Amino acid sequence: MLLITCPICGPRPEIEFRNMGEAHIARPTPEGTTDDDMAAFLYLRSNPKGLIAERWRHVHGCARFFNAVRHTVTDKFVTVYEVGAPKPDLAALAADLAAREAGR
Ligand SMILES: [Zn+2]
Repeated sequence: MLLITCPICGPRPEIEFRNMGEAHIARPTPEGTTDDDMAAFLYLRSNPKGLIAERWRHVHGCARFFNAVRHTVTDKFVTVYEVGAPKPDLAALAADLAAREAGR
């Protein structure tokens, strides 16, 4: 079973959480927004093979939203952080993760 660390409650089973999609998606403002801008906001996501910043919610716990960096291939959670905190440097986290795995 996958354990996810809620910033409030600590490690909990994955069944307590809901993935809310990619984090740090900027909502377009009404002024000057084209149909293409709105379509990109609604439907286009990066979908990388590797690290991605996502929004999660601890629905069966504290019900809080938080952000996490997860590896899309291994499902490994690299870090969790509060909503509103800046997006971590994913390239630096990937390099650190690769270095740690090479050092095993
Ligand atoms: Zn929680």
